[in-house]
Amino acid sequence: MRTYCIIGDPIEHSLSPAMHNAAFRILNLDCIYIAMRVRSNELEGSIRSLRASNIAGFNVTIPHKVVIIKYMDRLDNSSAIVNAINTVDVKDDKLIGYNTDLYGFMKPIKDRGISLKDKYILLFGAGGAARAVIVALVNEEIGSLIIANRNIEHAKQLIDTLRSNLRIGFDVKFIELDYARRYSKECYMIINSTPLGMRYERLPITSDDISSNSVVYDLVYRPMNTPLIEDAINANAQIIYGYEMLLEQGAKAFEIWFGREAPRDVMKMALLGGFG
Ligand code: NAP
Repeated sequence: MRTYCIIGDPIEHSLSPAMHNAAFRILNLDCIYIAMRVRSNELEGSIRSLRASNIAGFNVTIPHKVVIIKYMDRLDNSSAIVNAINTVDVKDDKLIGYNTDLYGFMKPIKDRGISLKDKYILLFGAGGAARAVIVALVNEEIGSLIIANRNIEHAKQLIDTLRSNLRIGFDVKFIELDYARRYSKECYMIINSTPLGMRYERLPITSDDISSNSVVYDLVYRPMNTPLIEDAINANAQIIYGYEMLLEQGAKAFEIWFGREAPRDVMKMALLGGFG
């Protein structure tokens, strides 16, 4: 039996085990996928144990996506550009790092036939997920970007870091969260990459601040219908759910590990079942 896992902290609510084990079952693969809590100070030792235990591959989540890079033997192109990894393949005892968040973010956009070329985009958040989002926006040659973040310095630092190995050819503006409603209605796409909407706190925009011609993409996947998604529906905007990205980054990881198409329908059912 081959073993796969996800490492992170916290990890107990991860939906990845349900999604991947459903794929293994439907394809009769003699594999199992488990969640492992790894605290920041345990990362180095855990990587050593994973290598020794012949792990076949693993996913990486908060807070390890950037730090773990130094333990990789090789990086694929996307993870080298984003400078963060979420998927590791083990080949001949070598750890190869990938970033499937980039693909996972873009796939639902491509599936809808949406073009972001020359478009005006509002992005909430400047953390780990925003890294992959911004690299995707650069690849799509958007027109300009506004980043609304609680700490503006974090957003500036993120853009400076990305500029070291990426040519950002469009204008980037930095604003505080509360100013977002001044711009949101003019934007073609609104993306939330903060955790706002997961619990009681929500983004500082309402349906009145969303254009009916816009696309609203909430990376938060639990709850499925976040306040932002509900506002977007009320504003008659097009919506993209966070679970769609989660599904696609997982499907891509599966395809890296097994070299065959992932059973997306079954993985999606397992994900949505996980929402209760
Ligand atoms: P992260 O690296 O911790 O970054 C969090 C970002 O949100 C930062 O910009 C932070 O602002 C901001 N933030 C955090 N708490 C806030 C609060 N109370 N009020 C205002 N802003 C706040 O996290 P991440 O990895 O980017 O993940 C962000 C969200 O995306 C999470 O909800 C995660 O579940 C989701 N996500 C979804 C997928 C998917 O597949 N759908 C993939 C990755 C992430 P500061 O810079 O000011 O601290």
